[in-house]
Amino acid sequence: MLIVMKSDATEREIEDVLSIVKDLGFRAHPLPGATRTAIAITGNQGAVDPTHFENLPGVAEAIRVTKPYKLITLDLRPEKTVVRVGGDAAIGGEELALIAGPCAVESRAQAFAIAEAVRRSGARFFRGGAFKPRTSPYAFQGLGEEGLKILAEIREAYGLKIVTEALDDHGVDMVERYGDVIQIGARNMQNFSLLRRAGRSHLPILLKRGLSATLDEWLLAAEYVMAEGNYNVILCERGVRTFAQHTRNTLDLAAIPAVRRISHLPVVIDPSHGTGHNYMVAPLARAGVACGADGLIIEVHDQPERALSDGAQALTLEQYEQLVAEVRAIHEVIAPATVG
Ligand code: PEP
Ligand code: MN
Repeated sequence: MLIVMKSDATEREIEDVLSIVKDLGFRAHPLPGATRTAIAITGNQGAVDPTHFENLPGVAEAIRVTKPYKLITLDLRPEKTVVRVGGDAAIGGEELALIAGPCAVESRAQAFAIAEAVRRSGARFFRGGAFKPRTSPYAFQGLGEEGLKILAEIREAYGLKIVTEALDDHGVDMVERYGDVIQIGARNMQNFSLLRRAGRSHLPILLKRGLSATLDEWLLAAEYVMAEGNYNVILCERGVRTFAQHTRNTLDLAAIPAVRRISHLPVVIDPSHGTGHNYMVAPLARAGVACGADGLIIEVHDQPERALSDGAQALTLEQYEQLVAEVRAIHEVIAPATVG
């Protein structure tokens, strides 16, 4: 059930609704919006009787939810969510969010060389894995805590916000200590205990779409995080597996308008994993921004030919700088049509 409060509802009237939800043994999720507050109820097995709420002062409407999701929906929050990261960065706002860096943190020198270029480009976010989900157990698995310490140094030196993956609950604890945004990777999109742990974090979650996840499965994964009380979720389209052999994954740019029709959550595009090839990253990044993406997450390396993971899709520092100029120009042209 969703309870939509009147636009002039008082704090007290909102509090009264919250306390009735609690007394019924359910969980209330109040989401204040630009014009009104809506309150979603979770934890109920069957339908909630709307008569508990309909006649309360300040309540405009009590709506039965027939879809499997509640918290991600535009019914709950009609305007887009802006995920704030620290005091001075955001994803989903007017500025195109640029998240760039290596697939994996390999060494201090490598990470700093790349961070220098990322900072120079004006991007606000640095990516880099310290815990890598590799297909082979013999491939480079990341530097672990040592990698996170390097990322924390980069945050300190350049003021960049750190986006980095957690593979398990312990990883979430660690990223909470050193990072700013917790990435849940494609392979873990339906790791429900990890999603629940992410939902109890105070950090925003970048939730990648699973390798073969439908839109509903992806949105329900976001719902898992939000159901625990963490409403700062950023969806990341990174391509899905298809019959195509000319790309590593098939980047589904239609996911952007498809999500927009249902959800208030911001969407970023990963053209690196979405294509797997250096020469395809820029065209698909440009297309993603043209489709209305809130941001891009891009793999960049100072020496792609020596990268310990995903070198084939890494942009050089020069290619990355060129791309930033292009996507900024595109964003400026289409932003008025997509913001709001
Ligand atoms: C990554 O961002 O480096 C990564 C492993 O991504 P994905 O989970 O999308 O494969
Ligand atoms: Mn990668």
